[in-house]
Amino acid sequence: MRMKVLLASSEVYPFSKTGGLADMVGALAQALAKAGQDVRVVTPLYQGIKKKYPDLRKVDWKFNLPMELNWIHAELWELNLARGLKVYFVDHPDFFDRAGIYQEASVSYADNAERFIFFAKCVVHLARYLPWRPDVVHVHDWQTALVPALILQQRSEGWGNPPPTCLTIHNLAYQGVFPAEAFALTNLPETYFTTESCEFFGLLNCLKGGIAHADFITTVSPRYAREITTEEFGCGLDGMLRERESKLIGILNGVDYAEWNTTQNPHLFKPYSASRLAGKKVNKLELQKLVGLPVTDAVPLFGTISRLAEQKGIDIQLGALAEMLNTKMQFVVLGSGAPEYERGYRDLARQFPGKVAVRFGYDEALAHQIEAGCDFFLMPSRFEPCGLNQLYSLRYGTIPIVRATGGLDDSVLDWTQNAKAATGIKFSEYTSRSLAKAIRKALVLFNQPKLLRVCQINAMKMDFSWEQTVEHYLEVYRKRVEPS
Ligand code: ADP
Repeated sequence: MRMKVLLASSEVYPFSKTGGLADMVGALAQALAKAGQDVRVVTPLYQGIKKKYPDLRKVDWKFNLPMELNWIHAELWELNLARGLKVYFVDHPDFFDRAGIYQEASVSYADNAERFIFFAKCVVHLARYLPWRPDVVHVHDWQTALVPALILQQRSEGWGNPPPTCLTIHNLAYQGVFPAEAFALTNLPETYFTTESCEFFGLLNCLKGGIAHADFITTVSPRYAREITTEEFGCGLDGMLRERESKLIGILNGVDYAEWNTTQNPHLFKPYSASRLAGKKVNKLELQKLVGLPVTDAVPLFGTISRLAEQKGIDIQLGALAEMLNTKMQFVVLGSGAPEYERGYRDLARQFPGKVAVRFGYDEALAHQIEAGCDFFLMPSRFEPCGLNQLYSLRYGTIPIVRATGGLDDSVLDWTQNAKAATGIKFSEYTSRSLAKAIRKALVLFNQPKLLRVCQINAMKMDFSWEQTVEHYLEVYRKRVEPS
């Protein structure tokens, strides 16, 4: 059966992106459409999108929706992106025509509750009134997590037979928590502001509302699905997640190999593949030149591309690098985020001249060049719902060094455990020491080119394509839900 799937997300690649959420929703939409489903995506119209996509067409549609005591207006644009795939953009310039998506200069916008509660209401309005009736509404993260509750409420007010909802948690650490007063913006009855619903210690918690009311909950790796039901990883919501465990499914993200590949990639200096690995060396030498490191294939090059946030294990990485950079190795980082971590990397660069290159900011091309040019990729996350960069590293033949948590554990096979089948190096303990030990193993591997080659080829042959992943989502969508 061809399904009509409405995806809703606050960021969708290639229109907007701050992290893996955008990549995932953009790729899932494409993969569903390719699998023959009828897909529509709804996302905000951020600054610059109209200019970059002149084919955007205004839809004859006006939103006029209540927010507490006010009525808020917005317009709608659409773009036919591919066969079976249309994207809707909610146009509210005051909310969305801004320099950032959620924040500027590391400061969150003060009206984020209003912006995304309004967006969630637009999603519900489209789901209800579009003549194209979705069979399922799939929302992502806290920004759209109130959609299931809003749909339930509308059902009780006369929306007969609304579609089932699926919530994907991309990162439980971001819950959309706001002062209690923000709840009024939802116009939901007070019965939704309880501990069984959206209330969290007297505050509004958007993600919690989604977990409470979505028909299905997915998260982006099987191990993370198990982890978030524990106190250690549950970010305060483990109790509710345990209650809803029968509805919770972990599906590892796929990779958009049309974007992330080494054979047809405009960002790379030279194409290469598992059978023609020589081109990878060219990418390494060019990368070294580009970032100002001594140009040589004889020294192993380690890289990181990351949001500079606590989650990503930057603290243990800085510690491990301070210890290991005395050996023969180079390191390049591309990141943006917390200023104290930027300082940490800058200090390293000063301490180890000619060994460390730092680039702060967001740079898609450089991200590809680092993935292609490095020998090893460091991803020592404290927790990692799925992680995409290790999946990209695998395809690029860049051996990932990861902490065994969440999607990192699910996607990388450790060299020490099985040298023949290995695709990377794993460590468990969240300490600089443990990471330094893993880096030491990488140095040993680097000095055994034959073994390194086996590992690279194993990695490049791993297949995390969306064609496989999408089947798991279709299974979830097809589960007929009992009316509750
Ligand atoms: P998260 O979503 O937690 O940030 P993921 O590994 O799931 O982490 O996805 C991160 C995505 O963002 C990847 O596509 C990665 O290449 C990209 N990325 C992160 N930081 C940067 C940056 N500074 N410049 C370019 N791309 C970046």
